[in-house]
Amino acid sequence: MKKWVYLFNEGNADMRNLLGGKGANLAEMTNIGLPVPQGFTITTEACTQYYEDGRTINEEIMGQVMEYVAKMEEYNGKKFGDLKNPLLVSVRSGARASMPGMMDTILNLGLNEDVVAAMIAGNPDPKFERFVYDSYRRFIQMFSDVVMEVGKKYFEKLIDDMKSEKGVKYDVDLTAEDLKKLAGQFKEEYKKQLGKDFPSDPVEQLKLAIEAVFRSWDNPRANVYRRDNDIPYSWGTAVNVMPMVFGNLNNESGTGVAFTRDPATGEKKLMGEFLKNAQGEDVVAGVRTPMPISQMEQEFPEAFEQFTQVCETLEKHYRDMQDMEFTVENRKLYMLQCRNGKRTAQAALKIACDLVDEGMRTEEEAVAMIDPRNLDTLLHPQFDTEALKAATPMGKGLGASPGAACGKIVFTADDAQAWNARGEQVVLVRLETSPEDITGMKSAQGILTVRGGMTSHAAVVARGMGRCCVSGCGDIIMDEENKRFSLGGKEFHEGDEISIDGTTGNIYDGLIKTVDASIAGDFDRIMGWADKYRTMKVRTNADTPADAKKARELGAEGIGLCRTEHMFFSEDRIEIFREMICSDTVEEREKALDKILPYQQKDFEELYEALEGCPVTIRFLDPPLHEFVPQEEDDIRKLAFSLGKSIERVKSIIASLHEFNPMMGHRGLRLAVTYPEIARMQTKAVIRAALSINKKHPEWNMKPEIMIPLTSEAKEYDYVKKIVVETADAELNASEEELQYEVGTMIETPRAAITADAIGKDADFFCFGTNDLTQMTYGFSRDDAGKFLNAYYDKKIMENDPFAKLDQEGVGRLMKMAVDMGKESNTELHIGICGEHGGDPSSVEFCNSIGLDYVSCSPYRVPIARLSAAQAAIKQNEEKQKAKCSWKSVVDEDTKQKLKDAADRAQAVAKDLAETSAEVAKAGLAGLKAGIEEARRAFNESIKKD
Ligand code: PEP
Ligand code: MG
Repeated sequence: MKKWVYLFNEGNADMRNLLGGKGANLAEMTNIGLPVPQGFTITTEACTQYYEDGRTINEEIMGQVMEYVAKMEEYNGKKFGDLKNPLLVSVRSGARASMPGMMDTILNLGLNEDVVAAMIAGNPDPKFERFVYDSYRRFIQMFSDVVMEVGKKYFEKLIDDMKSEKGVKYDVDLTAEDLKKLAGQFKEEYKKQLGKDFPSDPVEQLKLAIEAVFRSWDNPRANVYRRDNDIPYSWGTAVNVMPMVFGNLNNESGTGVAFTRDPATGEKKLMGEFLKNAQGEDVVAGVRTPMPISQMEQEFPEAFEQFTQVCETLEKHYRDMQDMEFTVENRKLYMLQCRNGKRTAQAALKIACDLVDEGMRTEEEAVAMIDPRNLDTLLHPQFDTEALKAATPMGKGLGASPGAACGKIVFTADDAQAWNARGEQVVLVRLETSPEDITGMKSAQGILTVRGGMTSHAAVVARGMGRCCVSGCGDIIMDEENKRFSLGGKEFHEGDEISIDGTTGNIYDGLIKTVDASIAGDFDRIMGWADKYRTMKVRTNADTPADAKKARELGAEGIGLCRTEHMFFSEDRIEIFREMICSDTVEEREKALDKILPYQQKDFEELYEALEGCPVTIRFLDPPLHEFVPQEEDDIRKLAFSLGKSIERVKSIIASLHEFNPMMGHRGLRLAVTYPEIARMQTKAVIRAALSINKKHPEWNMKPEIMIPLTSEAKEYDYVKKIVVETADAELNASEEELQYEVGTMIETPRAAITADAIGKDADFFCFGTNDLTQMTYGFSRDDAGKFLNAYYDKKIMENDPFAKLDQEGVGRLMKMAVDMGKESNTELHIGICGEHGGDPSSVEFCNSIGLDYVSCSPYRVPIARLSAAQAAIKQNEEKQKAKCSWKSVVDEDTKQKLKDAADRAQAVAKDLAETSAEVAKAGLAGLKAGIEEARRAFNESIKKD
């Protein structure tokens, strides 16, 4: 029988895949002797089984759970539902990768009327009665919300009513009697909502709670989070069942969350929050604003001292910044969780560098620790220092997630999404955020909350997604219902503009100027290490000198794709481009092309200059021509006038360009097949620009790369290449200058990938256009797939957008095939990728695995690609080492000797063979020579005779 359940003392940190992160770390903390309440973990495999069994927990799994409940009872000397010594537990999710706030937790499970009564009867302290009812009402509320999906709001309203009836502000001010009454009201509400009584059997409660945690793996916010963080659905979550310790027992108790280093800045200091007489949820949910962890020292000196030692032990053990949850019950410390803490990009860089300096990590490990996606935030604008100095803050909260955000105020997550969809930049202002707000938070530039500390949901989630966040600004007087708030004596409404600074926590009226970010300090250091360890080059997709310069600043080592059609969108150029398209004869077209040529040449020169001698790939015209022709009557008239044609004629040309499937239409190299003069003009521009730059900078050794798009057949590629080579050589002959150039093609149709051996023979390089390759492999329109992909995610047909994250099984297989076949037919071929995937970390890793020479991506993704490429190389190297070690470890000494002997013998035979064949060849050569001599003599004689 498979083992589905593990006691904490049966696992360890290496069992993360099976026990989830939380379970594996609870086991590890147990092993190293830290004070952890002893429970058990139900494996991630049980979760997968739950889904395979049609969302039910089968008897075998439940049987094992009950076996482990008995073991836990025995270990702790308490029993489920017992009236003398009742066991209460928490039931918590815990996936392989941490997904804070995304899945469910149930606390205080095991309570019912009898247990409550027995507990109170067993302890005469009146404060204890208050604690029991507080725990009971929390349990009913949480169980109803999380397990039975009755909305939280009904219970919150009952609490609010009770508080206003009693004239108190906080939950802690409610008496035992009030809480008892509340518990009764909650149970009535439960019955009203669900039509049945609240379950009183602790075993039934437990089963329902485990099911709820498994189910929460598939809730909408977890699905969104997984997609954003590349976490596969197939992993599932583990469930941890742990005896409760009570931070809400009395004033000698409390609960806290802490980080061993500052998760916002990375500074090495204990950071965290503590709430007296509270349970963990109160800190995370931001219901009360907690005290800083340092104050815990005054309240609970012994527990604090022990806790700081635990922090040190854990940091040394995991060699990383730890995020911990703990509880103090009657002054005694219990550890409830530890994990490598989520951190801002800034903090991640500082922590990684510091760990190297402290001798805890190697450079490679430091590079591997950074999530490349997080770098994105550092590459976005920051407040301009001067503008910031001149501005006066109107309020201040906690700088919970750094960065600058300015935009229009919205009050709901839905509004944030809707406003953002229509192109507005928004700041989401909320009393507090809840996990349902995640999509709205993503759509906002920043998040501002009235309640909550550094570890509140808003802060944790914002940091995770790299959004700027200011939390806990208690001075805001919020009126969410009417979409307004006041701060600093001013009333703000939906749509008003504000700016927030996620580093200082300052809040400003109006918009503050922002400036571009740059790579410096720790960022630069990490990037330096990344460059040292990666093997793939990183280029950029850039069509303008400004983009190219930015990319170069961010570390691009070349241009992998210059989309030449993008150079004609501007007002002053589109007219001549239209002239070219609407030409009736080759002569007319050539005349228009002659006007275009100098523009192209100048553009290319500027790109070459910006790239300072690095390789530049110019891709020939690709788009369907109709994209460039005018649609407005006025523009058509203007064009007709400049062409000297009638309006009707121009209209008929435009109509003739219409295509039913333009993306599969007259584009790419098909344009060069029908209009070779276009390819000739572009070749001239490339070569002339390179010659001119070569004169200025001979040390750059210019070698332009001409890329032919959309090839699907070797003969069509050869046809266009011939035009390019003839034109280029003619230019070079005329100039009498030396210049090498390369001609290659994009591989972006499935047929090109399948026939890569034939195409590769005459190509200097391949570059995968995975946007089109994905489009054509799936048959999904790249412009429209978004409309139905959500349905595919909901139905678990797909987990990711294949246009963002490379489909390795399908498109990737075609790529691998093309690489292998291409290199086999042409060993000199160099190969890259320039589709959007070139800047996506998991896709970059795949490109590394199939042996690409470079990835090319948009300028701001260059650092992400550099880091991803380094991580891929480091991982590949580690795997190679591991494979070597494991091979060595399975072979015993005797076999090793035999293998060595066999190798020696094989070497001797090979040497022998080589010598023999050399002799044979020598003899053969001498025979051949004699034969030739003989033939010559015979020939000479026959001539003499004649
Ligand atoms: C591609 O198809 O991946 C590509 C880079 O070309 P474009 O996006 O210009 O079609
Ligand atoms: Mg393409």
